[in-house]
Amino acid sequence: MATISQQAYGDFLAAVKTNRVTKVTISPSRIEYTVGHENSAETYFTIPDLLAESLPDLLTANGVEYTIQNPPSDSWLGTLLAVVLPPLVAVGAGALLLKYTEGSSGVMGVGKSKARTYTQGKTGVKFADVAGVDEAKQELQEVVDFLKNSDKYTRLGAKIPKGVLLVGPPGTGKTLLAKAVAGEAGVPFLSMSGSEFVEMFVGVGASRVRDLFDKAKRQAPCIIFIDELDAIGKSRGNGMNPSGGNDEREQTLNQLLTEMDGFDGNTGIILIAATNRPEVLDPALRRPGRFDRQVVVDRPDRLGRAQILTVHANNVKLGEDVDLELLAARTAGLTGADLANLVNEAALMAARNNRQAVLMADFELAFERVLVGLEKRSRVLNPIERQTVAYHEVGHALVGALITGRGKVEKISIVPRGVGALGYTLQMPDEDRFLMMEDEIRGQIATLLGGRAAESVVFGKVSTGASDDIQKATNLAEKAITLYGMSDTLGPIAFAGNNSQFLDGDTNTRRAVSGDVAIEIDRLIKQTIDGANSMAKAILEHNRELLESTTKALLDREVLEGDALRTILSQVQAPAGFAQWLQTGKG
Ligand code: ADP
Ligand code: MG
Ligand code: ZN
Repeated sequence: MATISQQAYGDFLAAVKTNRVTKVTISPSRIEYTVGHENSAETYFTIPDLLAESLPDLLTANGVEYTIQNPPSDSWLGTLLAVVLPPLVAVGAGALLLKYTEGSSGVMGVGKSKARTYTQGKTGVKFADVAGVDEAKQELQEVVDFLKNSDKYTRLGAKIPKGVLLVGPPGTGKTLLAKAVAGEAGVPFLSMSGSEFVEMFVGVGASRVRDLFDKAKRQAPCIIFIDELDAIGKSRGNGMNPSGGNDEREQTLNQLLTEMDGFDGNTGIILIAATNRPEVLDPALRRPGRFDRQVVVDRPDRLGRAQILTVHANNVKLGEDVDLELLAARTAGLTGADLANLVNEAALMAARNNRQAVLMADFELAFERVLVGLEKRSRVLNPIERQTVAYHEVGHALVGALITGRGKVEKISIVPRGVGALGYTLQMPDEDRFLMMEDEIRGQIATLLGGRAAESVVFGKVSTGASDDIQKATNLAEKAITLYGMSDTLGPIAFAGNNSQFLDGDTNTRRAVSGDVAIEIDRLIKQTIDGANSMAKAILEHNRELLESTTKALLDREVLEGDALRTILSQVQAPAGFAQWLQTGKG
């Protein structure tokens, strides 16, 4: 006779994650599950204390077969149902719900927050599950410490930060990180998405925010996670709606701000929000005491991708020939979510072929599938594009290495970031600078053109990747002549109107000038740009071997920084005539 024994809900989740569970039957009050196969199969049951909505997702992700049983029409199911299956029963069992949902406010409880609640440590996610975002983890480690040892801070009178904003492209692990913070600190995790606050009816969003914070206060210490903060947090006063903005969103945002100011930072509630559009957020959200901490969660580099692949591959059976490092090297631009998907697709592929383990061939097929899905995002560069971007960025860096004053090149990267940027070179000033000397402007223009110059030196042709560089270089050259009076022939006469001090705009407005002067200005701009361009090319030709070896290293490692980069840059040699050109612009 088979007796079924009860297990803790947490043990059940752990069993799912370690792939021991083979079958699950979910009913509102009870989850039955089977561990192991055929002869060795054992069945258990567990009581969902608060059934996370994402359980079906979790089961799907782990390839567990599950059934959700129709709820029996017993009387106790009102409250549970409200938590378990709100969308399904909202219409059919409306009357029942009204009766059982505690203190439902208004019609059908529209003002209640639909926050998914995960109780104590039950998000089941730990920092170890999030890979390749070490800096973000480090910053969030501090938040865990705030939640766990708040006395340590409050004793000294320190105010614990209330809000942390996670910023980064979709799929890089922001939600996962927030869950991991709750998991590590062992506190409840209340999660809601910004778009869920914004409803058709004015006032509903605001009351949901209130309700969410009320819930949180009852469960503190805890974490409130607001995903897609931009959906509510868009800058007020520049609403799309010309007839006075979006009232509903504005009210919701105001309520959020009020709630954030309203609780004492030391009550143990920490807000984590995520967005991939930080630029549209209302500045009020970033004030001290609100989301004043910002953590960037960026696309992973090669090392990070290898770590993420390893984390996800832990859940599948890998064949001997699978080389995760090699896969990591070939998947530049993919996010954590893409990589998780890749591993899963490969496992599906292997299962379809009735294999015992997932082979490299499965990964290759899966990669193609994932790429097709990603194509429209045009993030994954083909090998030639990747090489072009690498030469381009190294070009910036090598030219920049010779130019003093404007700051050192700190980092070169060909991990695609954000929209449009395929690679980037980071130059950090050594100190705050308020003035720029003539030679520095020349140097900077040459550095800007260094990327394009590298392409033309190496390939004999250039790509479209330099348009932004060209724009900036031209603006700078124009300013030198029309605004700073740095030309011999025209002298210190202002030919440009002053732009607003705060809008450090890239567009220069010209004063009305005579035709001759206009021609002269254009000639001087061209002369400046041409001079800088030839010098950039000369520098790269003179350091051709270094250009090749550095590009090779960059293609291999994707990011060059620190001592390794400094060593490379210190080897750059100035070509003949460099010093004279820098001083006079001639030569
Ligand atoms: P975001 O919130 O930034 O859009 P998510 O946290 O929702 O991204 O990520 C979706 C899924 O992708 C995660 O559940 C996880 O399986 C996978 N994933 C994303 N980033 C990582 C990472 N850094 N490490 C491990 N898995 C990741
Ligand atoms: Mg997310
Ligand atoms: Zn460039």
